[in-house]
Amino acid sequence: MMDRPLTGPQDGIGPSRYDADREDLEALIAEIGETTDTAVPSYRVDQLWRGLYSDLVDPNDVTTLPKTLREALAERLPAALVEDTRSVGDDGDTVKWLWRLADGSLIETVLMHYEDRSTVCVSTQAGCAMACGFCATGQMGFDRHLSTGEIVEQVIRAQMEAGNRRVSNVVFMGMGEPLANYDRTWAAVERLHGDLGLSARHLTISTVGVIPGIRRMANERLPVNLAVSLHAADDDLRDELVPINRRYPLADLAEVCAEHVAATGRRLSFEWALIHNVNDRLEDADRLAAYARPLGAHVNLIPLNPTPGWPTRGSSPARVREFAKEIRSRGGNATIRRTRGTEINAACGQLRADRSNVEGHPTDPVTVATPKRRNPSR
Ligand code: SAH
Repeated sequence: MMDRPLTGPQDGIGPSRYDADREDLEALIAEIGETTDTAVPSYRVDQLWRGLYSDLVDPNDVTTLPKTLREALAERLPAALVEDTRSVGDDGDTVKWLWRLADGSLIETVLMHYEDRSTVCVSTQAGCAMACGFCATGQMGFDRHLSTGEIVEQVIRAQMEAGNRRVSNVVFMGMGEPLANYDRTWAAVERLHGDLGLSARHLTISTVGVIPGIRRMANERLPVNLAVSLHAADDDLRDELVPINRRYPLADLAEVCAEHVAATGRRLSFEWALIHNVNDRLEDADRLAAYARPLGAHVNLIPLNPTPGWPTRGSSPARVREFAKEIRSRGGNATIRRTRGTEINAACGQLRADRSNVEGHPTDPVTVATPKRRNPSR
């Protein structure tokens, strides 16, 4: 028996292929040897490891292993993700998956190819409890945390799809709040760094601003990038758009962001979804610049992707450009993010939302606040 049980996502769902670390695989191979009464040499674990982490193949296809061992391993190390839907957009440069997990939960992963790199956006929870009104996942409510293996396997599957193009960057910006699932998310970070060889500077965790989680990140050995979904730089508006702000208000958030920057030396970025007449006025840009500048934060602007559950729309391209210009004129850094995969609904939670509309909603939708409309400044 293994002295340390492998942990799956939750009771009743077994561990999957990438939940196992090297020691777990050693123990598993030894256990298979015992139950089948055959001596299994220790190099078998190296062969299996190479299969899973270098060749990225199913245990059944690790042809250096004897057939009976392969079969026993394949049975005990099932894949976590079963492809439900795969959509390709931007002439093949964006691939989005909706995966079905062992318990029927649905999650999304997006692979994006750029000229100089390929990036995968992974989910960390099925659903999300943060209830940001404009976010399709927030509108669904929370199902459960993903296990480390379920997170890591999203990167593996994206790399399998990417073939010769190396998936060098991972952003934890899919469904869920990574810092509300801290331990499993961080174990995935360690696995991607240590076992898949990804550089910590190419890993980015995006959060609504869970202060204790950011503090833990600042104290980790591996310095990864921090992105905070800001969307408002005054507490009244942020309380509405990102409800966790009522618990972790802007002043405290700035403090912990500064701690992270000081401890890791990594760039801090703020995500800002521009919402027509809600947070896209010039005074919003001024407030944002004043908040971001002392932290040396980089602002990523993206027009809001409309979602069915929220009655407002993204800012016009002209307004987005003016907003960026205003931030820069105040000494801030801002980039207008190219939207990707709009035609395949590649915004957070949208693919699953579409599916749920067809199948009937699997979870109780959360109540989300409608936005306060403000008078435009122009
Ligand atoms: N919970 C984490 C990570 C997942 S969301 C976080 O909030 O950071 C990833 C990013 O997509 C966040 O910046 C989120 O605010 C943004 N987002 C969610 N819904 C969106 C929408 N409809 N349009 C534009 N951006 C959206």
